[in-house]
Amino acid sequence: MSGRREELASRLEDVHARMGRAAESAGRDVGDLELVVVTKYFPASDVDLLVDLGVAHIGENKDQEAGAKVAELSRRDDVTVHFIGQLQSNKAGHVTAYADVVQSVDRPKIVTALDRGAQRHGRRLDVLLQVALDDEGGRGGTSPEDVPALADLVAGAEALRLRGVMAVAPLGGDPRRAFARLREVADGIRAGHPEATWISAGMSGDLEDAVAEGATHLRVGTAILGSRPSLG
Ligand SMILES: *Cc1c(COP(=O)(O)O)cnc(C)c1O
Repeated sequence: MSGRREELASRLEDVHARMGRAAESAGRDVGDLELVVVTKYFPASDVDLLVDLGVAHIGENKDQEAGAKVAELSRRDDVTVHFIGQLQSNKAGHVTAYADVVQSVDRPKIVTALDRGAQRHGRRLDVLLQVALDDEGGRGGTSPEDVPALADLVAGAEALRLRGVMAVAPLGGDPRRAFARLREVADGIRAGHPEATWISAGMSGDLEDAVAEGATHLRVGTAILGSRPSLG
């Protein structure tokens, strides 16, 4: 078990070093970047080790797995839980039982379900709109044209707080170009919603491109936890 701790510590250090270099070449302050460690498919014991190593944000993308895992954490209050997976409207309310942030909001029905769920749990939820950066929308998200209306809807929801946008770079495309587009979308909604300052972009393979295009939140899994085990 102590071997796992060293392994996570050393990979975490590598990722922080990459973030530092990326920030420097972009002329940005590394302190303005939040690292969200994506722990999907890995056990609560790994999350506990990460929290001990100073990780303050984790990301999960499967509702059932995430709910059970968060309940097991020994230091739940020391970590912010981000839900980053696709949501079904009939189950979206459930994530409000344990998530602090939902990054993958991409349609009106989800907004309504989250608002109801958050009210039921007496919580206020931070929300990012997931933007589709490819034409097919194969990796989830709403099209950039639909973002302004969805932003207004979230901003008007009682228990939700609009914080910004999230995207996954299209497979096989140029991530830098995609993240530049995301930055434009983010600028567009900030005109009407000044509190929407977060840009969640960049994963293990493309975090440098995301930092170069203004990302504030990086979602990194494999580079820290290793290859994901299959759930069989
Ligand atoms: C799994 C996942 C990540 C992390 O990807 P890695 O390549 O393992 O760093 C980031 N964002 C989302 C939405 C994911 O589902």
